[in-house]
Amino acid sequence: MNVEVFKFGGASVNSAEGVRNVARILDLYKGKSMMLVISAMGKTTNALERILQHYMDGDAVSMVEEYYKLRDFHLTIANALFPLIPDEGAERVSAGRTVDEHPLFPDLENLFDELRAILKQTPTAGYDECYDHIVSYGELFSTTILYHFLEGEGLPVTRFDARKLISTDSSFRDARVDWKKTQLAIQKQLFTLFQDHKGSIGLTQGFIGSDPDGRSTTLGREGSDFTAAILGYCMRVKEVTIWKDVPGILNADPKWFDNPVKLDLLSFLEAVELAYFGATVIHPKTIKPLENANITLLVKSFLHPEEEGTKVKSLQEWKIDIPIFIRKQNQVLISIMPRDFSFVVEQNLSQIFTILAQLHVKANVMQNSAISFSICTDNDQKKIKLLISELQKSFEIRFNEGLELYTIRHYNDGAIQRIISGKNVILEQKTRNTIHLIVQIT
Ligand code: ASP
Ligand code: MG
Repeated sequence: MNVEVFKFGGASVNSAEGVRNVARILDLYKGKSMMLVISAMGKTTNALERILQHYMDGDAVSMVEEYYKLRDFHLTIANALFPLIPDEGAERVSAGRTVDEHPLFPDLENLFDELRAILKQTPTAGYDECYDHIVSYGELFSTTILYHFLEGEGLPVTRFDARKLISTDSSFRDARVDWKKTQLAIQKQLFTLFQDHKGSIGLTQGFIGSDPDGRSTTLGREGSDFTAAILGYCMRVKEVTIWKDVPGILNADPKWFDNPVKLDLLSFLEAVELAYFGATVIHPKTIKPLENANITLLVKSFLHPEEEGTKVKSLQEWKIDIPIFIRKQNQVLISIMPRDFSFVVEQNLSQIFTILAQLHVKANVMQNSAISFSICTDNDQKKIKLLISELQKSFEIRFNEGLELYTIRHYNDGAIQRIISGKNVILEQKTRNTIHLIVQIT
């Protein structure tokens, strides 16, 4: 279909100015059919995670405090978008008209009331199900504000509830897509919109879906990119664009790396590798549907929408002479040894991998010697404690915390020096295209 699929992340809609900027970007594509996928505003998902934690802990005071903070944050944005006219009592300006009450406000209040009603009850479901029920409100708030604002700007926008588009199983917090059902729903709802009304704008929530019982599910943190890919795939579009606060995909994260370089073109294969090694620029699940349907992924800056950005596509041959750097902080290196100093054999490995799989521990780097097998993994305190106690039942365990893992793709000597100079490297592992360096932070 000839539809632009645009995903706007939390950073692009973290203020009234951000929301206005979205409208400015859409104006550059005037007349085109567009499907918009919107994340929760700013750091809303983190705030909802905190609210959930207080809810599960039964800490009503902190929960209520966070709830009102979040409500204020959204109402402040809504008020700035539809300001009250001074001296006119309760009147607001909307699309050149004054209205007593813009429908955005009761709409938004309804959602906050719904959330409050949930939080008033004691949790009956498990943590993950409660997570999806509560945290999914972030995207409902943001799309409500965006919808009313864009409509007020005179854009031909129709909103869709992502829970009626994206069908998933009931693996809460990491729901798997039911592609058949999703495809059908998209055909029924979006095809109708875009085929009958060229130049329409559809708008929906990223990150969320629903299970066969109609319960809200989420696709994993940062899952809105994936939503955009799912919609793009089901509509067989040519391109999906992710609007970000960086000029495109950079060869390192500017938060820790001075003067990163923008990559103009990237192969899907490389993007998968980067995501696998921990680059957070693209959600790992996003690539597969795009590659399968030969859809180009564009990563562009919402601050400079006229600039080129990065293109990610299927490329048979792709060469790069710029090293790409990935840093993972807060790592732990766990060395696992048979108790009797016997060799690490297949049975040991199979037992170790079974435990890793059961506890969902991802080994970022693995290395083995005759008498020990080591893994470097994220230092998630709860998980690591469990992992170590499980492993200790059969093995001798040593572990080393306070580490960082640097991965360099397409490395050269200069790139390695740039990372290791002045640092204490405790493990180095090289393949032809990739080097891993684990360093001790002192
Ligand atoms: N709001 C969700 C998150 O922050 C999903 C997303 O932004 O992609 O993880
Ligand atoms: Mg986000």
